[in-house]
Amino acid sequence: MADTILKVENLVSTYGPITALKGINLEVKEGEIVSLLGSNGAGKSTLMKSILGMVTIGEGSSIQYNHDGQMVELIGKKSHQIIPLGIAIVPEGRGVFINKSVEENLEVGTFFRKRPAARDKELLDTVYQTFPRLKERRKQLAGTLSGGEQQMLALGRAMMADPRLMMLDEPSMGLAPLMVAEVFNVIKNVREMGITVLLVEQNAKQALKIADRGYVLTTGEVTQTGTGKELLADESLVAAYLGAKK
Ligand code: ATP
Repeated sequence: MADTILKVENLVSTYGPITALKGINLEVKEGEIVSLLGSNGAGKSTLMKSILGMVTIGEGSSIQYNHDGQMVELIGKKSHQIIPLGIAIVPEGRGVFINKSVEENLEVGTFFRKRPAARDKELLDTVYQTFPRLKERRKQLAGTLSGGEQQMLALGRAMMADPRLMMLDEPSMGLAPLMVAEVFNVIKNVREMGITVLLVEQNAKQALKIADRGYVLTTGEVTQTGTGKELLADESLVAAYLGAKK
């Protein structure tokens, strides 16, 4: 049985008067791909922001992360303390620096974790192996890349952080079908590298196909959970959330 890498208990998250998460419980085991599903405004991005210490959290909530075998409470820590523990995010909208080159964007990924320079080189080689197009365009400004290439760059930058847990917020959004397929393949590769994946996706069918398990959020609450297969097989769920996309 794999160890737990992330354990979220009774998580309440607020934006001023708005309670976006109303007591979420969720667990991710090391090496899993876990998908978070739910319609717009369900709270998926808020969950990721909560893990990174970017949202106001209510009393009695807990977000524990397994750091070198010790469960560490993340609530109360700031993003700059959380990221070095090995958590990377590929944010919604990619967040690449358009006026920096591909290579400079990748370097940003290395800023938050201390490790030997040799490891940086090893990771850069892995990123360029995974994304040969980024290697070809390494001197090019990120703003001149296609949307799909920018998404690859955002993924590459997260890989450069050498994370143990990678969170991806709608990585297939706005991409052409071929690029979507490539993104999902890369996510499988990321897991094969030993990185645990927490994936937010509107493209629910594809997300469940690669997921070990999934959670469905509805207006700030977990309303369903199961293996990727179980959730895909659930016709009422498919009708409610997953019908729109193949
Ligand atoms: P989407 O798929 O549209 O990104 P989501 O499931 O990620 O949706 P969240 O972005 O987490 O949903 O939003 C959850 C709730 O919190 C929504 O009701 C939203 O309006 C609210 N919310 C999100 N960000 C803020 C903010 N900065 N200020 C106030 N309310 C917010």
